[in-house]
Amino acid sequence: MAIGAEGRFYDQLETMSAEVRRDYLDGKLREAVAHAYDNAPSAREIMDGAGLTPGDIRTVRDLERLPITRKTDLIELQKKRPPYGGFLAMPPEDVARVFISPGPIYEPLHGSNVRWFAKSFYAAGFRKGDVVVNTFTYHLSPAGVLFHEALRDCGATVVVTGTGNTDIQVQAMLDLRVTGFVGTPSFLMTVIRRAGEMGYDFRRDFAVARAWFTGEPLSPLVRRTLEDDYGINTCQAYAVTEPGGALAYECPQKSGMHFMDDYVIEIVDHQTGGQLSPGEIGEIVVTPVHNAAWGLLRFGTGDMSSYTTEPCPCGRTAHRLTGIIGRTGDAVKVRGMFVVSRQVEEAVAGSVSRFQVVVSRQGERDEMTLRVELSEPDADRERLSVELANRVQSLCRVKLDRIEFLAAGTIPDDQPRVVDERKWD
Ligand SMILES: [Zn+2]
Repeated sequence: MAIGAEGRFYDQLETMSAEVRRDYLDGKLREAVAHAYDNAPSAREIMDGAGLTPGDIRTVRDLERLPITRKTDLIELQKKRPPYGGFLAMPPEDVARVFISPGPIYEPLHGSNVRWFAKSFYAAGFRKGDVVVNTFTYHLSPAGVLFHEALRDCGATVVVTGTGNTDIQVQAMLDLRVTGFVGTPSFLMTVIRRAGEMGYDFRRDFAVARAWFTGEPLSPLVRRTLEDDYGINTCQAYAVTEPGGALAYECPQKSGMHFMDDYVIEIVDHQTGGQLSPGEIGEIVVTPVHNAAWGLLRFGTGDMSSYTTEPCPCGRTAHRLTGIIGRTGDAVKVRGMFVVSRQVEEAVAGSVSRFQVVVSRQGERDEMTLRVELSEPDADRERLSVELANRVQSLCRVKLDRIEFLAAGTIPDDQPRVVDERKWD
C-alpha cells in the first residue's frame, strides 16, 4: 500500500503545492517526450514533422507546439504499422499487458505501474474491510483488471463479477455482504431494481455503502436517489481507455474531478490545439507520463470540458475538471468560446420542451440565436427571455443575441441541437 494510506490522502502527489506540481509535471513530461522520441518511431515522426526535438518540449506549456493524435489517427497508424502503430516505446517482450479498444486499437502497458488509479478509489472511501463488486468487463478493455488492482491497493476485497448476470450479482452482493459497487450508475440502478423484483428491500437487506462510477455521466437526480434513498455514498471518475485509464477523480467534496498527476492533462481549442484558461471550454488532451511502453503524446480524447484552479476544501491541490459536457462534434465556437449542446440543454431545462441554437454571422461578428418551443404556451415570454438569456450566459459564457419562441412541433426531432450557419468562403 502507498504512502499515507491510513490518512486522508493516498499519496503525497495529491497535496503538492502549485510550484512543486509544475516542476514535477514538467520533469515527468520531459522524460516521457525524450523516451517516446528515442523509442517510438511514430512519436519521433510526429515531432520531426513539426520541426521539434525533445529539447523543445521543456514544460507543459511547450506541448502546444506538438500536433494532437486522435483515435482515428491511432487506428490508421496501427493498420499501417501493426500492431502498435509505431507507438511502442520498449522491446515487445517487456510489455506486460495488451488491451484492445474498439477500432481495434492495441494498447500496450508496461509492468507494475498501475497503482495510480488507487487514489481515486481511496478518495471515494474504499479501504481494507470493504467487499467490492467490480462490474466492469475483465476482457479486452483495461477497466476490469486495472480497477481491480487499484481496489486491492486500497486494501479492499474484490468480487470478480464483471459485466452482466444481474441475478448472480444481486445474489453475490447479498451473500457476501458486499459494501462497495464499482461500475456505471445505470447498472447499479438495474441491480437495485432487480433486487426489488427478487423480493428484497435494497436498503434493508444489502450492505452497499459506497459506489464508484465511470463510463457514463452521473446525473444529479440519480446521485440524489442513490445517496438519499439508498444511503450509498457515490463518487465518479473520468476515464479514457487509449491513454490508459482514469484521468481525473472526485474527492468527498464532489465538485469537479481532480487531475491525476500521472498524466499531463490540457484543455485545448480542438481546432488550433492552443491551451485554454480556467473556465474556458475545450477538448481534453492527455499525455501519459507513467507508461514507458506507450509513446503516445497529446492524445485528443474528443471530450469537452473546462477546468478550475479554485482551491478545494478537501486539501487536494490538483486542478479539477468541471465535468464532461459533450464531444468535440457537438461543439461550435461562438465569438471564441465553444458552446456545447448539453450545456444549452441544462440552461433551458424546465421551461422549454425543445430548443435549437443557431449560430450565424453578421458582418465580422458571430450571432447566437436560441429558438425554443415552450413547455407551457401561456408562459410569460418577457420574463422567460430574461431568465433564459441569463442562464445561457452564465453556463455557456456567451451572450445570446436573440430568443425566438416557436409553435410546438416546429423544430423537427432529427434536427441537430446546435446549427452552424456561418459561411467562411
Ligand atoms: Zn477535492
